[in-house]
Amino acid sequence: MPETALKLLMVASEAAPFAKTGGLADVIGSLPPALHDLGHDVRLIMPWYRRVRDVTGNLRLNQRQLLIPMGDQVYRVGFRTGDLRGVPVYFIDVPELYDRPELYGEHGQDYPDNAERFGLLSRAALELVRQITFVPDVIHAHDWQAGLVPVFLHQQRGSDPFFAKTGSLFSIHNLGYQGVFPLTAGRALGLDESLLTPDGLEYHGQISLLKGGIRFADQVNTVSPTYCREIQTPECGIGLDGLLRSRADQLHGLLNGLDSQLWSPADDLALTHTYSPKRLSGKAACKKDLQEKLGLQVSSEAPIVAMITRLDTQKGIDLVLESWDKIMSRDLQLVILGSGNPDYEHRLTEAASFYPGQASVLLGFDDRLSRRIYAGSDMFLMPSRYEPCGLGQLIALRYGSVPLVHATGGLADTIFDPLESADQANGFVFHEYRHSSLLHCLDRALSTYAKPENWLKLVLRGMTLEISWVHAAKQYEGLYHLCTKELK
Ligand code: ADP
Repeated sequence: MPETALKLLMVASEAAPFAKTGGLADVIGSLPPALHDLGHDVRLIMPWYRRVRDVTGNLRLNQRQLLIPMGDQVYRVGFRTGDLRGVPVYFIDVPELYDRPELYGEHGQDYPDNAERFGLLSRAALELVRQITFVPDVIHAHDWQAGLVPVFLHQQRGSDPFFAKTGSLFSIHNLGYQGVFPLTAGRALGLDESLLTPDGLEYHGQISLLKGGIRFADQVNTVSPTYCREIQTPECGIGLDGLLRSRADQLHGLLNGLDSQLWSPADDLALTHTYSPKRLSGKAACKKDLQEKLGLQVSSEAPIVAMITRLDTQKGIDLVLESWDKIMSRDLQLVILGSGNPDYEHRLTEAASFYPGQASVLLGFDDRLSRRIYAGSDMFLMPSRYEPCGLGQLIALRYGSVPLVHATGGLADTIFDPLESADQANGFVFHEYRHSSLLHCLDRALSTYAKPENWLKLVLRGMTLEISWVHAAKQYEGLYHLCTKELK
């Protein structure tokens, strides 16, 4: 047990295994259980999406319902209770808002009522803890979808003794998604006029829910030290760098961990063959199976370079498309699993069609297939324009697929190039966001791959790297104590 066990409430829009579109779900699926294991009383609140029901089955609807006023409307809010490895999860059930095929939008378009959907999540979180008389020491809100939690808490703390000693931590998992809506949406959320100003949530004539979280939380963090520095600059701050700099004393950069229970090639049920650093033969078998499954030429020699990614400008897809023919002129195979921007989906599929047997582009979000690709590939390409932390490269390390990355954000903090730090080397890094730099980096990786002994060293160093959630959870513990310090 820690010296002081804390009561912690997490509010987020996705969590593995219930609903996942990206790394946020990995974090929320792992950080709360890690904190629970450290002895804290942790609860999680998230929406009851259609997709959650597909995973958990039809969890019983609690008899109590909440009537929550927001703007001119009153919402009837149900909740269902589930479990995340010991952490109680309260799923907020409002069918007209969450019972939809996707989490945030369809066919490349956001749902038009996202302000209302996630405004209500934030409002309901505060009402629910009151209903169940769980007085949190800290509410930990994640990304723009929970950005109003610190705002509402800040407002209520002054007048409501229930929250008088509750602090808030706001985590930025990606500054690129700011939850920007018209001012009218702010009014419909019942936000006071004083909040619709530049000193509040106003952002270029609109409102930003992410800005609300940054502005009103007691402490703020992002998910790597380098990204924490980057977002405080005009180049990467997307208009919020001034606010972030003004909060520099309360702004922290904490690297994500990787859950060894969920990501382990030694006992991953999705794999056709398992393997470990001491018994690597299964990895070669996974590679062969992957080549057969995807219709690639079966060859142990040609390295498989993989990408598993949202298809978004953030992820450097344009760089890959620009260099496509040059990449394919090398002795390698390319596998891309991704979904997102329809234009990228189309262009990548077309580009792959010219290289049958050598390139495979798979569209969609498929956890099982992603695991088989991490396991079957030799290199993992992540040329992100910017990357808050990145989990793809961490999973790749664990599965013995050597990362090739652009030096930005969390990629710069986790991947080390033999040219820069021979003792720590676990991948290859390029510094200029240019296709010539990417190709040069790829060529250096290919020449090391041609020397099996050197390559094996890199693979093993990655597979055995200590990147657990225990360490990260302990750092969060420190931040939670900072959040409550001034309230005692
Ligand atoms: P981001 O959160 O920006 O999307 P991260 O690298 O932090 O990027 O996390 C991405 C997570 O989502 C990883 O767990 C990755 O394996 C997973 N992922 C991304 N795209 C897909 C996909 N098309 N199918 C399955 N998993 C995916």
